[in-house]
Parts: sequence; C-alpha cells; structure tokens
Amino acid sequence: MPTAVLACRGLGKTYTQGSYQVRVLSNVDFSVRRAEHVAIVGASGSGKSTLLHLLGGLDTPTTGSVTLAGADFATMSETARGDLRNTSLGFVYQFHHLLPEFSALDNVAMPLLIRRVTRAAALQKAAAILERVGLSKRAIHVPGELSGGERQRVALARALVTEPACVLADEPTGNLDHATAQQIFALMLDLSSTLGTAFVIVTHDIELAQRCDRVLRLTEQGLQPAEPAPSTLLRGATT
Ligand code: ADP
Ligand code: MG
Repeated sequence: MPTAVLACRGLGKTYTQGSYQVRVLSNVDFSVRRAEHVAIVGASGSGKSTLLHLLGGLDTPTTGSVTLAGADFATMSETARGDLRNTSLGFVYQFHHLLPEFSALDNVAMPLLIRRVTRAAALQKAAAILERVGLSKRAIHVPGELSGGERQRVALARALVTEPACVLADEPTGNLDHATAQQIFALMLDLSSTLGTAFVIVTHDIELAQRCDRVLRLTEQGLQPAEPAPSTLLRGATT
C-alpha cells in the first residue's frame, strides 16, 4: 500500500470558551498520497480551516492523531514539529500574506533564508520556481505592484520553494475572479503533477473541486466523499 504523506485518525476539535464548549470537528479520518490532489468542500463554519490547521500542526487536536511523513505530531517536541512542518509542508491562504516591502523574488526566497540557506542559493531556487509559475518578469516587483492572480502565484511559489511533500491551501482562489481562479487552480494541479507535491485544497467552488482526484465534504459526521454534483449527473443523463 502506498504510504500516506499526511494522515489523520479520529481527529476531533472542541473549542472551550469559559464554560461553553464548541465542538467543531469529530471523527475525521483522512489521508493523502504523494502527488494526490484532494479537494475539501463544506458549508461555511463547518471546520475546514480548523482541519487544515490541525493537519498542518499549527493547532493541537482534542482527540485523534495527525501523522506527517509517518511521524506522529503528538509524540514530537514543539521544535521537532516546527522543523518537520517547515521541511514537509507548504501553506497557501485566501489572502496572499506576502511581505509588502519585499520583492516577489525575496518573498519566495524567504522560507529558504529562514532555514539559513545561503542568499545566493535561495535566490537561485526562488527564481527557478517563479519561472515555473510564469512570473519571471515580475520578480523584482513588490506585491502592491502585482494583480491578485499574480500575488497568488507568488504565494504558490513561496509554498513550493522548499519542495514540500504536501501543500495545504485554504480557499486559495476565494478572492479571485472566476477566470483567474481557474488559471491558479490549473497551475496548482500542473505543478503538483510535475513536482510530485500532494495538494489538499479547501474550496467553495465545486466545479474547481471536481478537477481534483477526490472531492471530500466536511460535515458534522466527518469527512466523506462528496456526492456527485448536479452537472455530473446531467452529463451522465445525456449519453
Ligand atoms: P470554515 O473554515 O469551514 O468556515 P472554521 O474552521 O473557520 O470553518 O470554523 C469552524 C467553527 O469553529 C466556527 O463556528 C468558528 O466560529 C469556530 N472557531 C474557529 N476557531 C475558533 C477559536 N479559536 N475559538 C473558538 N471557536 C473557533
Ligand atoms: Mg475557512
């Protein structure tokens, strides 16, 4: 059986506010394989962002476990977990979170500089991945000089520059117009195939989600394969 890059078992999260408890996730089982694309859909407030935070080791589950590259987060020190996260995961968010005063090239190089890769090597790697996302000509521009789609391309390049095993993307196209969203989505899937990176993508757009290998829906019952969307049913009916 192929080894999962990232997996969780019996995952649950309950937030406690004073004497009040909010159960957001319960009994979530999930795993993603190398270079696999998985879309996660679900109603607003169903816990999608919470799930990505737990999978990314950015928050601690109330129940269950998360394993990344075969290692259980719960058995690791904070430092070891941070190191593993930095080497094995990339993150893309709805809002790009690029540093406004730095060029696209410097933003992409940042995760490597933080890891103390030499500046020359980091910039070389950053330039190569910027080319992969089609932004070589924008390398010296700061985020404020780029379009929304270009900023997300830079954010994608930054997530991929460390060659992570898996990228966790939380509504990465949620702030873009439809045509740009389609381009960014296609780029993510293309890079995933060529770089062997797994992608877990939270999206509201079922049409985009269906381009992934699997679509899962998050509900109070956990994470289950999404039912076919009406468009798929219609296509089937006309043949
Ligand atoms: P989604 O991304 O699917 O919209 P979230 O994971 O952001 O959902 O949130 C799920 C639920 O958890 C929401 O009801 C939200 O209010 C609650 N929630 C999220 N973070 C916290 C927190 N730190 N403390 C308390 N409640 C939270
Ligand atoms: Mg969310």
